[in-house]
Amino acid sequence: MPLGRILVEEFQPDVLKWLRQKVELVVVNPWVEPERWELEASRVDAVISRKGKITREQMQKSAGRLKIIARTGVGVDPSRVDLDGAKEFKVWVTNQPGSNSVSVTELVFGQMIALVRHTFEANKAVKENRWSEYLKFIGTELAEKTLGIIGMGNIGTRVALRALAFEMDCLVYDPYIPESHVTALGGKWVGLDELLAESDVVTIHCPLTPDTNGMIDERRLVLMKASAYLINAARGGIVKEDVLWSALKQRQIAGAALDVVENEPPPKNHPLFQLGNVVLTPHIGALTFEASKRGEWGAAEEVIRVLEGKKPKNPVIEGA
Ligand code: NAD
Repeated sequence: MPLGRILVEEFQPDVLKWLRQKVELVVVNPWVEPERWELEASRVDAVISRKGKITREQMQKSAGRLKIIARTGVGVDPSRVDLDGAKEFKVWVTNQPGSNSVSVTELVFGQMIALVRHTFEANKAVKENRWSEYLKFIGTELAEKTLGIIGMGNIGTRVALRALAFEMDCLVYDPYIPESHVTALGGKWVGLDELLAESDVVTIHCPLTPDTNGMIDERRLVLMKASAYLINAARGGIVKEDVLWSALKQRQIAGAALDVVENEPPPKNHPLFQLGNVVLTPHIGALTFEASKRGEWGAAEEVIRVLEGKKPKNPVIEGA
């Protein structure tokens, strides 16, 4: 007798095989079949979500059947789960803290190098037989430059550690951690405006919350140096996209690398696609074999715990 019916995404085969021995599985890619995801979410006992969103309406429609929404990743903002709805309908919400922080950190350094060394444009030039244009791609060293880290949690801390190896100075803005956590890693704990004004590269690693929604707005982007780069591998809503577009277009800042946008997937012909000084990736910060394995196994085990009547290990919202 299966423990319940679970909605999952296209996870790794060993995770799906393990789950199939215990539950009835409905496998849906929410970005390929959004209508089916929406329909099935209210007909199951549990959801394991990587990209799929669960709304208050779906929880209401489920009429008490849905017991747990287990995130394979870290973020539990409205782009993934309606937390107020989960509280109201007493649905457990769990996440996997730290499961993907190495993967995101490594992508951030890849993006940083792509920005300062223009590797994407250089690659394009070679393939278009423009090898001799190499002088266009003169870059900037990261050593002795200042890296501004917004949010010093699991990812921000790993970014700061690796910045030491790159011989960079670090400024950190995170009002919720002790200053000693920053100074222990050789960084300086500063206010957000100072960080933006002083950094050569700014990287965002805080969650999307009512406080951080639109935090990088017009006034704050103006504070940045014209030679500075902005990296966002956290959540799209933290940076005001229209304002960023103007800043990049007018070369008010040198460039940006975005792993996330406000609405995912972005519409065709998104204005940012026109710009040469922005590097875009489709929210792949956590997409490595190692992080997927940790996150998917962790979330699968949470679901089984709850369906067996036990408490989950990483509750963000307490269910019934
Ligand atoms: P974490 O919870 O370990 O750290 C978040 C840090 O942000 C904490 O130290 C917290 O104090 C700080 N913070 C909270 N509010 C802040 C504010 N207003 N200003 C500055 N700092 C603030 O989370 P993490 O694992 O480091 O992940 C950070 C975020 O990255 C997640 O919330 C998620 O949205 C995003 N993320 C994206 C990907 C991806 O694939 N691109 C993968 C994992 C996480």
